[in-house]
Amino acid sequence: MLLPRAGGAAGRASLPLAALSQVLRLERSRRTAIVFPLQKLERYLAPGTDTAPFRLFQPGLAALQRAEALFRSDRGHPIDYVSSAVRMDHAPPPALPEVCFIGRSNVGKSSLIRALFSLAPEVEVRVSKTPGHTKKMNFFKVGKYFTLVDMPGYGYRAPQDFVQMVEAYLQERHNLKRTFLLVDGVVGLQKTDHIAVEMLEEFGIPYVMVLTKIDRASRGLLLKNVLEIQEFVKENTQGCFPQLFLVSSVEFSGVHLLRCFVAHVTGNLPTVEAS
Ligand code: GDP
Repeated sequence: MLLPRAGGAAGRASLPLAALSQVLRLERSRRTAIVFPLQKLERYLAPGTDTAPFRLFQPGLAALQRAEALFRSDRGHPIDYVSSAVRMDHAPPPALPEVCFIGRSNVGKSSLIRALFSLAPEVEVRVSKTPGHTKKMNFFKVGKYFTLVDMPGYGYRAPQDFVQMVEAYLQERHNLKRTFLLVDGVVGLQKTDHIAVEMLEEFGIPYVMVLTKIDRASRGLLLKNVLEIQEFVKENTQGCFPQLFLVSSVEFSGVHLLRCFVAHVTGNLPTVEAS
């Protein structure tokens, strides 16, 4: 099934802040909330709280703009859906650096990918939510720079062949530079998310946690979830980047920063000067 282009959380018509130029017109505090949503929470923390993990990746405007250019398609820089695969031998050749997005069904993965690609209106983010429908890995090519893979959403009743497909991908894909594990920012880490973390830790591949739908959580709830997950990452993980990425595909918060991080980890923005 193809989602209608202007529908859903990240419908293009409802995304006035898709481009940095639009965000820069906002007043300072709102601008920070959109570009650095995690930093915006800092002043509500108890004195003495370790805020170092809040600022590990904090690019300046020039880096954010260079990253945005990668996500903006034009004739010389096509961005497009390439293919889908249910097995590794159907995956496109691993020619470019790659990132993948995984998460529970309904975590907001397709909305986030649509938001990331909102400056490339021709990109269609395919979703298959029909029960019993084959779940596939969807590959998107961003010019000659990197590929982004939308992995099928997982849940309690993920069939064995699906688990095998995800495991095989994560273990075998040598061009995979970073895995983005999406966690619902309203409900926090769930049992199935823990299973995904265990799998990523076991395979020893680097990953990042992204908290979705932050516009839906009250500030108090978001702070609680952020601190709990940050503590969990610190105490229980080796491969997870200590800074959490917070996003709202509706308000576009965190999306510019995430674009920049993707550009960085795929080697397309090697030096990122701090803001
Ligand atoms: P997926 O199954 O992980 O691809 O999830 P979807 O992207 O389809 O989103 C699941 C539901 O959450 C849909 O109803 C979306 O409209 C909603 N949603 C996704 N992202 C956001 C967000 O950032 N904010 C809000 N308020 N809703 C969102």
